[in-house]
Formats: sequence, structure tokens, C-alpha cells
Amino acid sequence: MHKRLYSLDEVIAAITTIQAIIRNPRAQIGNLLYDTRKLTGKALGLFFALEGRRDGHGYIAEAYKAGVRNYVVAPNKVAIDRYPDANFLIVESPLRAIQELASFHRQRFNYPVIGITGSNGKTIVKEWLYELLSPEYRIIRSPKSYNSQLGVALSLWEMEDTYDLAIIEAGISKEGEMNTLSRMIRPTIAILTTIGRAHAAGFPSLEAKIGEKLTLFTSATQAIYHPGHIGEATLPTVENTFTWGDGDTTLQLLHDELVEGHRCRIHARYNGAEISITIPFTDGAARENAVCCWATLLAMGYEQSVIADRMTRLRPMEMRLEMKRGINNCSVIDDSYSNDLSSLVIALDFMKRQRQHPSYTVILSDFPESDQREEDLYKRVKELLQSNKINRLISVGETFMRHHRKFSAMAHLHFPDTDALLAALPTLVFRDETILLKGARKFAFERVSRALMAKSHETVFEINLNALEHNLNQYRSILPSQVKLMAMVKAFSYGSGSFEIANLLQFNQVDYLAVAYVDEGVELRKSGIHLPIMVMSPSTSSFDALLAHSLEPELFSFSVFDEFVRLLSSRGLKDYPIHIKIDTGMHRLGFSPDEVGLLIDRLGQTDAVKVQSAFSHLVASDDPGEDDFTGTQLAAFDAFTSRLQHALGYPFLRHIANTAAIERWPGAQLDMVRLGIGLYGIGSRQGTLPLQPAGTLKTTVAQLRKVRAGESIGYGRKGRIMKDSTIATVKIGYADGYDRRFGNGVGYMTVRGRAVPTVGDICMDMTMLDVGSMDVYEGDEVIVFGDMVALANSIGTIPYELLAGISQRVKRVYYYE
Ligand SMILES: *Cc1c(COP(=O)(O)O)cnc(C)c1O
Repeated sequence: MHKRLYSLDEVIAAITTIQAIIRNPRAQIGNLLYDTRKLTGKALGLFFALEGRRDGHGYIAEAYKAGVRNYVVAPNKVAIDRYPDANFLIVESPLRAIQELASFHRQRFNYPVIGITGSNGKTIVKEWLYELLSPEYRIIRSPKSYNSQLGVALSLWEMEDTYDLAIIEAGISKEGEMNTLSRMIRPTIAILTTIGRAHAAGFPSLEAKIGEKLTLFTSATQAIYHPGHIGEATLPTVENTFTWGDGDTTLQLLHDELVEGHRCRIHARYNGAEISITIPFTDGAARENAVCCWATLLAMGYEQSVIADRMTRLRPMEMRLEMKRGINNCSVIDDSYSNDLSSLVIALDFMKRQRQHPSYTVILSDFPESDQREEDLYKRVKELLQSNKINRLISVGETFMRHHRKFSAMAHLHFPDTDALLAALPTLVFRDETILLKGARKFAFERVSRALMAKSHETVFEINLNALEHNLNQYRSILPSQVKLMAMVKAFSYGSGSFEIANLLQFNQVDYLAVAYVDEGVELRKSGIHLPIMVMSPSTSSFDALLAHSLEPELFSFSVFDEFVRLLSSRGLKDYPIHIKIDTGMHRLGFSPDEVGLLIDRLGQTDAVKVQSAFSHLVASDDPGEDDFTGTQLAAFDAFTSRLQHALGYPFLRHIANTAAIERWPGAQLDMVRLGIGLYGIGSRQGTLPLQPAGTLKTTVAQLRKVRAGESIGYGRKGRIMKDSTIATVKIGYADGYDRRFGNGVGYMTVRGRAVPTVGDICMDMTMLDVGSMDVYEGDEVIVFGDMVALANSIGTIPYELLAGISQRVKRVYYYE
């Protein structure tokens, strides 16, 4: 093992311990644990009870049951006597303790550490530096964008003797945070990528934000930055600085030049000579990130000719895990851009959250940087695959071949190269399973990915699972801890998918799901969703399926109530959970307030059902002009449920708040809230929660055509061209859910960062855009739905309709950054 192990004494010395309760002094620590959903390497694990939204102290029993025996906890939070053979270190703050331990670990190593901060581009710069420097260095870098107070600690913990350079990303969101990160990272080289102009929440001013970021430079011997990003802020004293920019800088940028339409040559002056790099990108962000890397390599003493050569080969970074529907009802997680141990851990973690299929296959290539610790590395790969209970391994490459025997305990197929795998693919059976595809670049696994993908056209609806999780957490942060959360996943989760979203919600431990129809609930059950599910419009003909899949009906009238009770009684079922819908003003479904007495009588006459919850729906919780009406709805609800409560004598959940009401009517949160559209990133009109849009509808430019003033576009010659222009045809039409009302310039799409209007009528499968004189190329990405609220307004509808209207033939792609 190359991983360093620490004795308890060393750990105690490294962190600010108030008290140590040691039952097993010989314990050794090699792994940091903080989430009971991810407990690997338990025997050498130290569990930190972090006090986030979910208090880690509530999970000690679970971790203990799983075999963890070492804990870092806050005072008076855990009944320590209940765990007689476990070690407990008691500290003021478990988060600070994990940081102190990471900092201690980092200081065991003398090799250079590059620290990167900035508003944008951190992760790209980190990944590009990794590419550019890896011919000379064995590099450990932060996985994905692990740059938070916890993420940095976990990243540093991965440092080992076998590396000789670390690249660590640091991100902050409020004052004071960089100080902690900087003391942990102690970068030898510190890089500031860019600073966004907006003055971020969490800081008193833009200067304060910049000053805070510059704290990263404190211990560095080399600082690399653009003076324009720093403005008036003062730089800590640093031995060497290397700057880039337009003015008097070390690397003075002269001008850019577009090469063959898709590459960019950047000219600069350095040490009196004119030099240049050519990068395979043209957008401003990529240029800025590439220059930042250029400056870093020059500062590290690289020859300009070496840099120029490597820069031509930079590639766009797929910084996310994508999941798509594959052939034969498979889900394919496509992570074919990199292959190293830390990203494998993340990918397997994501994979195991997918419960929709019974089995798991991993397709894995050789690890590129494995040369000297090969033996260890493959042993750890084996352990990872085993602890994640992977059913089948398909490996590709010569190194894997050498370690063939390690994997003999699992179903294992091996291929010498990607071509051999592709040739064999038709004979391998892939059916109803989750497939993780993970390969180093040179194995070109994107070819395997294409072969495994279900066929479809180029329009995709991309769902950012991080954004969904973020939005969920935003709402949770304003709910008292005892208030439960029901997530509305009706209508394919507002168009965003079905089991993929439900899975994420289940993993994040929401309390309830709600769907409109029994069929939707059945699909979720078949995909491994075990959360309670409320069905809002169960038809009497679907009651059998409802019972067979333990779904819970909303009962809204005496006729459905009686019918359901009759069925339960005929089967001898008792206490079946039901949800009572009350009509307090919507006048859609529900018992009206004057039916409460009768309902109480009916409930008293049967023990077949048990009221799990009673609820109603607000009609205008978003509208200040109707606040009085909302008030009467709340009062009517309170009156109804109070009588019901009194009569039933057992507790049930009361809920009435939808997305807008969660924020606008905290008093209406009651026992549970029903979160719908907010989850997908669209909040209430007056809301202040910083939500992230979860879905992006995208397509590509299929064809470009020059047209002259006076020509017409599309059916009925509706589109008229006033001056010479270029028309881009994109493959999305009203059959995909792109509303006809967006035609003739009402709607717009975004190409290369610019909004371009539609021209002519929208066709069934196609739309034409007037791109004017912009530089647009066939194959360019086109964002169809960006700001859903404004777009919906422009055609007199609401974002709900746009989302739910995206047709099922549009492929959904899920990704995780
Ligand atoms: C759809 C729905 C919700 C969610 O509404 P949002 O405004 O999307 O949060 C809540 N309750 C009921 C009964 C619903 O049908």
C-alpha cells in the first residue's frame, strides 16, 4: 500500500481535540468518511459527523452497524456508551477537524502544489494543466469540481508518495472561506483564472470578493494572474509574479486571429520576442483559460515550442457524467473522457444510485498513468468493483490483461483493444442493466458509446442532476427540519424524465413522491423506487394495479371513496393508506368543506383505510393580488382538518403548500410541502431562492443558406426577408414540443451566445432561424429553451406547459457535474 496510514495519536495531534475516548488504541486511519451512503474502506475509516443540512450525528448508528469504529463528533451529540468498542474524538467542529487532518496530510509532501481559484474556468484550467503537464509529472488533482470546504480536504487527502505534483481547485461562496482553504492547500504556485464582474452574494463588495480570493496567494512562491482581474485589490507579498494581459505584463497579449473558422491563434510578446499558440477553440472563455495555462507553463519554465505543440491538442472538457437511454432498455453512463481512480470512484457512486435496472456492467479501459504503481492500482480497482457489487466487468487494454487474474471472482470479459470490443459488441448481451463506460482518451470509447445508444434525432433535453439537487436543497434550507417534503414527479417529472429523477429524489431522501396516474406510479415501482407514492387521479379501473404496487390513492369524492373501500374490504385489507383531497377553492377535485361531517361518518364505519394525509391546493399562492383569497383557503383547510383530526384520533399529515407557497407562505408549510416546478429551477415570481435551471432543450444547426432581401421562408411564404441574410434550419418543430406560436420572430433560440429569432411558421419537425451575418456553422449547438419564464410569457402561456409539452421523442440526457 502506498496510501499513508495514521495512528490515532497522530490524528489526535493533528486536530483540535477536546477529548478522546479510546477503546482501541491500535486503530489505523486511512480513509475519511462523512456520508453513510458512501462507506468504502470502513476498516481504516474515520467518520466525521458533519453538521450540514443533515446532521451527521444522526447517522452514527447506521455507520456503526456498517462496521465503522472511529468517529469525530461534536460535544454532547452522541450517546457514546452505546458504541462500546468504538473510538470517539470529540471536537468543536467536525468540519474543521477534517480540514485540519487534510492539512496535516498535505504537509507530509514536499512536491509542488498548484492552487487554482477564480470565478470561472477553475475546473477547465485544472483539467487542461493536467493534460499539458502529464508528460512530465505524475499528477494528483481534485476530482471533478471538488473545490468546497469539504471538497478541498477530500482532494488533498488523495495526495500520495507516488505523485510529484498536485493541482487543487479552490472555490468559495462567502467571506473568510479562502483563508481556511489557503491554509489547507498551501499552494506553491497560485493561479487566479478570472473574476466575474458581478458582485456575488456572500461578500460586502466586489473588492472584498477579489481580496478574499487573493488570500490563496499568501503562502505561494509564484502567483499567476491577469492584473485586470485584480483591479484595486492589494496582492499579498509573493516572491514571483507572472502576469498576462494587454498592458505591461509578463505575457503581453497582442491580438487573436481566427484560423479556418474553428481555431484561434493568440499572439503575445514574452521576453521581448513575439510568440503564439493556436488552440482548437474560438470562444472567449476557452481563449482566456488557454492563456492562463500558457502563462502557467511559461512560469514553470517550459519551452515555448513544447507549449505551442501541446496547445494545439487541447480538447473540450466533458466535465460531467452523462446518462442516456441505451439499447434494450439499458441506461448508459458515459464517462469516456478520463480514467483515473478518483473519477472512477465518483462514477461508480453515481452508478449505484441508479436503481432502475437489476444489474450493473462496467466497461473499463487501461488506466493511463498507472506505470509504477500498477499492482496497487489494479488491486484497488478490483476492490472498488467488488464493494460496489458490479455484476460484470468488460475490460480493454494490455495492462488490464496483465492483471486478468485479479478479476477472476467476477464475470469478466477482456479485449485487447477498442476495435476488438466493437467487433464483439453484437454478440455480447446488454439488456435491462446500467452500463458505466469509462475509458482513457486514447481508447476512444465514444465509439462504444454510440453503439450502445438508442437511436434518436439530434434534439435533446439535457437535465442537470446537480441543479435538481441544488434546487431541492434550496427549498429544504428554508423548511424547518420536521416539515416533510413531497416531490411532484407527475407528467414525467414536468417533462424531465421519470425514474431518473425519482431515483435522485429517493437518493436524497425526500419523504414522498406524487404522480398523476397509476401507470406512472407503476413505472416508478418497476424501476426500484420504494418511497411512498401518492397517486392524484386514480381511476377505479386501475385500483388493482395500485394495490399490487403499494401506491397510495388520493380520494376526492364519496364515489371513489366507497369504491375503494369496497375493494379493500372484499380482499380483507385493513388500514390502507389514503390521502384525502379537500376543495378549498380550486373547484377541481376534492371534498367540499360542508362534506366534512359525512366524510367523518364514512371513515368511522370502516377500518379498511387509514388517513395518511389530508391536503388541498392553493389556486394563487404566487399572486399578491389574491393573498386574501389564499388566506380564506388556508382557513377553510384548517377548519376541515381540525374537525377531521378531532374525529379520527390518530395523527395524519396536513399539506397545502406548492412551490410558490413554500417561499411566500411559510405559515402554510404545515406537516409537509409539495414541491413541483421549483425543483426544476423555476421559482415563484417574487421568490429569492437562487435556483438553477435543471433542463436545457438543445438542438443543432442542420443546414445554412444565404437568402436575398425579398425572398420568403417556409410554408405559406409567411417569413419575409428584408435584407440579405443567412437562415439556419434546426431540427425541432411542433411535434417535439416547440409551440407553433413561437413562429415568425415571436420565439428565439441561442446560437454561439446570441439570441436569434425564428423566421416563418414553425414546421412539424423543423424551424428556421434568421442568423443575419453571424458566424454560424452547420452542427453548431442551438439552445432552444433558455429563460423559460420569458419564453412562456411571449406566447401567453406558463413554463409548466412548455416543460410538460416537450415530446417523448426528444431524447433525455441526464448529467452530473
Ligand atoms: C402539480 C401540483 C403541485 C406542485 O405545484 P408547483 O406549483 O409546481 O409547485 C402541488 N400540488 C398539487 C395537487 C399538484 O397537482
